Order: sequence, then structure tokens, then C-alpha cells
Amino acid sequence: MSVLDKLLPEFFIKVDRELCIKCGQCVKNCGFSALMQDKDKNVKPIHEKCVACQRCMYVCPTKAIQVINFPGTQKNNEYWKPEYIKNIKKQANSGGILLTAAGNDKPYPVIFDRLLLDACQVTNPSIDPLREPMEIISYLGEKPIDISIEFRDNKYVLKDKLKPNIKLNSPIIFAAMSYGAISLNAHKALAKAARECGILMNTGEGGLHRDLYEYSDNIIVQVASGRFGVSPEYLKRSAAIEIKVGQGAKPGIGGHLPGYKVDDEVSSTRMIPKGTDALSPAPHHDIYSIEDLAQLIASLKEATDYSKPVGVKIAAVHNIAAIASGVARADADYIVIDGFRGGTGAAPTMIRDHIGIPIELAIAAVDDRLRKEKIRNKVSIVAAGGIRHAADMAKALALGADFVTIGTVALIAMGCTLCQKCYTGNCSWGIATQRPDLVERLNPDEASKKLVNLIRGWSLELKEIMGALGINAIESLVGNRERLRALELSRETLDVLGVKPAGR
Ligand code: SF4
Ligand code: SF4
Repeated sequence: MSVLDKLLPEFFIKVDRELCIKCGQCVKNCGFSALMQDKDKNVKPIHEKCVACQRCMYVCPTKAIQVINFPGTQKNNEYWKPEYIKNIKKQANSGGILLTAAGNDKPYPVIFDRLLLDACQVTNPSIDPLREPMEIISYLGEKPIDISIEFRDNKYVLKDKLKPNIKLNSPIIFAAMSYGAISLNAHKALAKAARECGILMNTGEGGLHRDLYEYSDNIIVQVASGRFGVSPEYLKRSAAIEIKVGQGAKPGIGGHLPGYKVDDEVSSTRMIPKGTDALSPAPHHDIYSIEDLAQLIASLKEATDYSKPVGVKIAAVHNIAAIASGVARADADYIVIDGFRGGTGAAPTMIRDHIGIPIELAIAAVDDRLRKEKIRNKVSIVAAGGIRHAADMAKALALGADFVTIGTVALIAMGCTLCQKCYTGNCSWGIATQRPDLVERLNPDEASKKLVNLIRGWSLELKEIMGALGINAIESLVGNRERLRALELSRETLDVLGVKPAGR
């Protein structure tokens, strides 16, 4: 190997010889084989292999191990960042596309952080959620503009047949993450938590494992361009169906599950041969217009007796409002809009980091357009991609979303430390892997409890925020941009958001 082929490690593993009791836990736990023990049981790091998944630091009983950034530095250069130099060297070695995982982590301005929520004072009293009822139950699906009732058999009955809606106890949905990209134990944890919380999880594009059939009432099944795992049975075993057109982490391109993650179970669930790369095409080969999309929506509704909502997931791109209007007119019951911070198990780095637009702008633009066109009732809007906490959720709702999805947040609750190496299949936490030795580390019951706690905490916080705003029903928060003010955002951005600057 020439010196030109060599790359400096990104991380440095420090082992404190005084504290280390040579138990070998760190060695056993590292999914990336970055640690070994010599014949005297001394821990020997292989810095080049470390991805900072931090599993060793969590399992070490004496806190004798530390992972730090590699101490070597390059001459300070604000333009040629170390990451760019490392990537150029990597590509000069491989001649391939750079891969990454999780969400866009680049320092674009975070609009959520420049939006502030309002609070009631004196003349408009706030509401105490501990003493007053606070309604956060939300319904996914088309709402009627009006309804007619008649008095029959001594009672009032609804004359209209309403479109199918799903009742969720909180406006939160676990984001689409496919079996194959994540483990079956992770899927089970999400399904179990969704049922317990009265919300939904989403299969992503990898089909539905038979072990999850019992959770059908809390599952959205995806129909993506690869059609993996799609069958009449699959469609039936769901609360809602979602056509995945795009994803915030990689708008405009298809999906790629490497063959080494396609084991027996993934292969039978996805209905593809074992060990083959699962490549979903960039477009659906039967969708080249809104009319084509309308046909697929109609077919899925027909196939399921018009009994469940059919939604469409699209990535947030420049002309998102016009696209969303078309999707609503194509008879979708809900639209998921995935912003450029949305996560992924694998994406080309250049696509993840440089394509798409922020979810805040996309939601505001879509809500605005659908209201102007008087078709806002036709769809629920679901904001996805980069929601980090309950305040982000409240801001997304105030900008016009009916629901938010959480993917990265759910993974973190299950142990993920955002090392961004999901595509390697070596996740030390048993989440983004199919290696049996790693998968068994994630206990679905324990992980599900964490998720239930998280949803409970966020729901309580949402009620607190609504109480401060003097709002006692979620419908009064959705699209209520008067309750937002902006700090240090340009006039143009304020215009798209429909939000006033702080102080006005
Ligand atoms: S890859 Fe993870 S477990 Fe292995 S040494 Fe690095 S931080 Fe520790
Ligand atoms: S799921 Fe696992 S591999 Fe992916 S970012 Fe989280 S810790 Fe890393």
C-alpha cells in the first residue's frame, strides 16, 4: 500500500490503562471490529475502523474508554474543510460514489430555531393542561367541507358517507423505515409502541414481516417504486397505504439496500432473491404525470374496498406547493412532505447534502396553496424530516402540518448515536443491521417502552405549549401562524412562511 492510498482515521480511541479491568466488553460490543485484545487481554484499538458509535463507552464498566476526534489536524482553511479533503482522497482511491446515512448535517440555517411561539398574558388567559381538557387527538384523511344530518328513528344520523379517517391519539407518526434497512427487532419495537400509544408506524418500502401482522391497525404500508413486498395481503394488513414517490434525504433518486443486508427473512418479506441488492428505481415506472398517480391511488383504493386512506410521500423540492396541489387533486387522502434534513439508511452524500429544501418552508408553502385553492380539507399534511423535539412539532403544526413524523428521534430513543454508518450493516446498537449477533442486542420490549415514554413526553409537552398559547384543541393550532414570530429571517423567507418578525 502506497502512502497515497492511506487515509487518516477520523476518530481516536483512548484506553486508560489504570482504569481498564480487561473485561473485554468493549471488544465484544464493537460492531465495527475497531477493538481487539492481545494475549495479555490488553485492549488494542484500530483507530481507522472506529466510527464513533460510542457503544464501547456505554458498555465499559469503569469508563476506561473514550472516543475522541483524531487529534492530528490540517493547516486551518475555512474553505477546504477537512471533510472535503478526506472525501477527495477516498474517491481518488475508490473511484466510486460517496455514501452516507442519517440526515443532512450541514450548517444550513435551521428555520425552526429562528421561530418562536407565542404565549397568552393578562387579556387572553392561558389554559392549564393539568386542570382543563386538552384535545390532541388527530384524524388522518380527507375531511368533508360540510355534512348533512337527518332525524331518523328518533335520532340524528349522518346522511353522507365520509372518507376513511384514522384516529391517532397524538399528531405523531413513526417515520417510514424499511425492514432490511433496520432490523426486525427495531420494526417490532416501533409497531408495539405505535399500538400502545394509539398512533401509527410506517413499514417503509421493505414489505411487512408476518410477525407484524398483529399490529395491522397501527401500520401504514408503503408502495414504492421497487414494489418490494407488495401483495393484496400486504395492502389488506394495514391501516393506511402510502405511495412513496420521494424521500427528503435523497430526492429524485431511488433506494439501495445492499445485498449483504438481504438475508432469508428480508428476502422473503421483500419478495426478492437472498443476497441481491434491492434497487428501487428513481421514478415509479407507471407514474409520469398527476393522471398516472391518480390511477395508482384509485387502484389501491379499489383493491382495498375504499376502506383506508391512501397517502403520497414526496420530498420537499422547489415547486412543492404546485406538486402537492396536484397530489391532492389526484385524490390522495394525505401527503407526507419530507424535508431535506430527513434521514436515510443509505444515500449518496452529494444528494443528501445538496438537494431539497427545508421542511418549514415546504409546509408553509403547501398549506398556503391548498387553502388558497380551497382544497386544504382534501388532505392531511404530514411534516417529515428533521423534527427534533416537541417545540419543533408545535412549530410545524402552526406552519400548517396536521401531523409530524419522527424517524431519527425514534432511532435515538432505541439507542442510536447517529454515527451515520447505517449502510455498512454493522450497527452496534442492533438497529440498522441484519447481523444476528447485533440484532439480538435490541430487545423489542425494552425499545418499545422507550418509544412509548418518548411519545408520552412529547404529547404532554405539546399540551403544555397549547395551554401557553391559550389553545385547547389541536385544530386551532394547525396553520395558526399568527402564533409564530421570527427572529433574524429575511423578508423573502418571512413571506414564504407567512410569519411576522418578533416584536410585531
Ligand atoms: S466503533 Fe464504536 S464500539 Fe467500536 S471502538 Fe469505536 S466507538 Fe467503540
Ligand atoms: S442506526 Fe446504528 S448505524 Fe445508523 S446512525 Fe444510528 S447507531 Fe449508527
